[in-house]
Amino acid sequence: MHELAAVPLAQFRERIVAGSLAPEAWLEASFAAIDASESEVYAFIELDRAAARRRFAASARGPLHGVPVAVKDNIVHRDGATTCGSRILEGFRSPYEATALRRLETAGAFILGKTNLDEFAMGSSTEHSAFGPTRNPLDPERVPGGSSGGSAAAVAAGMAPVALGSDTGGSVRQPAAFCGLVGLKPTWGRVSRRGLVAFASSLDQIGVFARRVADAAVILGVIAGHDPNDSTSSLEPVPDYAAALASGVGGKRFGIIAEALELLEGEARRRFEETIATLRGAGAEIETVTVATLPHAVAIYSILANAEASANLARFDGIRYGRCAGAETLEQLWLASRGEGLGPEVKRRIMLGTFALSAGYLEAYYGRAQRARATMRREIAAALERVDFLLTPTTPSTAFRLGEKIDDPLAMYLTDVFTVPANLAGIPALAIPAGRSEEGLPLSLQIMARPFAEEEMLAAGGWVEGVLG
Ligand code: GLN
Repeated sequence: MHELAAVPLAQFRERIVAGSLAPEAWLEASFAAIDASESEVYAFIELDRAAARRRFAASARGPLHGVPVAVKDNIVHRDGATTCGSRILEGFRSPYEATALRRLETAGAFILGKTNLDEFAMGSSTEHSAFGPTRNPLDPERVPGGSSGGSAAAVAAGMAPVALGSDTGGSVRQPAAFCGLVGLKPTWGRVSRRGLVAFASSLDQIGVFARRVADAAVILGVIAGHDPNDSTSSLEPVPDYAAALASGVGGKRFGIIAEALELLEGEARRRFEETIATLRGAGAEIETVTVATLPHAVAIYSILANAEASANLARFDGIRYGRCAGAETLEQLWLASRGEGLGPEVKRRIMLGTFALSAGYLEAYYGRAQRARATMRREIAAALERVDFLLTPTTPSTAFRLGEKIDDPLAMYLTDVFTVPANLAGIPALAIPAGRSEEGLPLSLQIMARPFAEEEMLAAGGWVEGVLG
């Protein structure tokens, strides 16, 4: 890994100002890292070096000047295409840019390129991209996780210091875990979703990949805040997240979820218990709490996410967006556009979601899942009254092999059991590297916190990062 990867973002800025680093240092390091491994990793769907240089040259002289950001290709920008990893959007160009990207550019950062993802962010391995899979830079036989696998791989391979992804059920935290990175999912409504292509609107949030908690805090501080163009973005003021990191965890209490522990087996369980013991040894107060609905998290999530997706993706009808195949009738046009343009996982979810919302089944599936979600929210809120943070492993296992779960959708979905509760409850969550497995693959600890407690969560995350070092 090149030296710049070891430089915290805040110091990159200081060194530029001091004259010891050139503003284009990261840009050149990115290109060198891309030369070294992009042909094997395939992190980017769109990577136009001339365009990246142009964006760098035109970038604002703000606090993030010179910082390249890899952006998941379901976040739109006027400059370049947006595919969502789908054939149906081939050739689509957005007439506007996402608020999060506009804010990063105003702060001086520039977009390096658009990263690979599972089609429409539906997946946990990035194998469902219409353009081919991304590989894990730490072990190319393995997946980088998903759906934001390209963003995770880009940061893990040193192609960018930070990246944006979207997290509907774990798509930032799970790939961060598989690639040994920090992954941050903010509170629902903390970051504007304007320009994030909708998957499941009650769960979607833009999130951040970084090599260290402090860098994630810097980026969150830039992208968070109310946006008049997203009525679901919160009016809650944005604190100085980077400064909060210094405050540590004195007097804070952590809870481990009993039901999560029961789902862990073998090495995963042993290593999680060791991590907890290490944190206790370093002075953390840790008790056990319960979230009885946790084992049902994936079932609840799947019904609700698919239902919302079936409605959100109805707009890709081959008329306003997507291909317009030569068809005689409107129905033929829809069938041809969606039939050819959408991949098997997206079709599966649209069909399941449509079924869960259809007459006669609405109450049995969608209604019940909504009530179960409300119960889970109450249980998590109650747990977060007893303790300040909840701790789980980010994933039940380490990065799996390409092809291992692709023919078994249920096995793929179950990898999200620890990440979907934060989306269902709307709370912030942070994935932090927690050592390596016997096979040498990254392990990861997840910290969840109360709504809008990112400041405390990042402070706790910085402390945990230091302890687990
Ligand atoms: N892996 C989950 C899914 O397949 C979450 C996806 C996401 O967060 N976008 O739905």
